[in-house]
Amino acid sequence: MSDRPPAPGGLALVEALVNTVDLESGSDRLDTPEGRAELGVGEQELADVRELRESLRAVCLAHAGHPPHREVTPLGDLLARAPLYVAVDARDGSALLAPVEEGPLLSRVAAAVAESLTAGTWLRLKACELPQCHWAYYDRSPAGKGRWCSMAVCGARAKMRRYRAK
Ligand SMILES: [Zn+2]
Repeated sequence: MSDRPPAPGGLALVEALVNTVDLESGSDRLDTPEGRAELGVGEQELADVRELRESLRAVCLAHAGHPPHREVTPLGDLLARAPLYVAVDARDGSALLAPVEEGPLLSRVAAAVAESLTAGTWLRLKACELPQCHWAYYDRSPAGKGRWCSMAVCGARAKMRRYRAK
């Protein structure tokens, strides 16, 4: 967990979704009506949303060079269910990938991923390497080699563990 500023643009949605659950305590904001309202999801889609959340976490771990934390549905398989199209603004000719179906969280996540690809930010959305954390964070380090959601919390915990193991 960290007090970093949110990820840029649409990635903030992806980050917020991944971070709805605290893996260490098990407390899940999707269990609360407020948490679901924040992401615009209904109770009936919770199983799908949780599956999407863990597929995204696995990709965030991959961005940091780590194996998946558990078996997940590949993110690509999930996003294939939310087709995008090229929307062109007739006034200025600008274009973006927009969801065919606006409402569902899966569509909004697909559009956010597409937007971050264009912006060059996708690979910097990572998950903290500490297994009990795996919190998503946006790596703003110049070299893009960040390892923990928070240097002060998880970085210190990891160092302490290495120290004890010696
Ligand atoms: Zn962490």
